[in-house]
Amino acid sequence: MTSEPFIVELSKEFRFEAAHSLPHVPPGHKCGRLHGHSFRVEVTVRGPVDPVSGWLMDFGDLKEQFRPLEEQLDHHFLNEIPGLENSTSENLARWIWLRLKAGVPQIAAVTVFETCTSRCVYRGE
Ligand SMILES: [Zn+2]
Repeated sequence: MTSEPFIVELSKEFRFEAAHSLPHVPPGHKCGRLHGHSFRVEVTVRGPVDPVSGWLMDFGDLKEQFRPLEEQLDHHFLNEIPGLENSTSENLARWIWLRLKAGVPQIAAVTVFETCTSRCVYRGE
């Protein structure tokens, strides 16, 4: 085993179901109507592997940090949640980032999958 320090990225996926409508789309746009998604969220952390433990962080800690957000989001109407009145994938990714940042300082990316083929990545900029 080498003792050289090295950097890794870990990702954990979360899922929740929620309804929303987008208030600022053009008239007649389908996203303006009330509808739901089975959202997938991937949280990625990046940093050095601890030479003793052999890991960057415990996936279980990431799960604990996400739990209060899941409780706010799952089976809720996103438009009623403060900060998510316009719950595009872009705004949702940043909303999640801002709430995880304090407890997960190694956070590197939040990806929101609105559908199987559409996703948004936020990296804190
Ligand atoms: Zn939608």
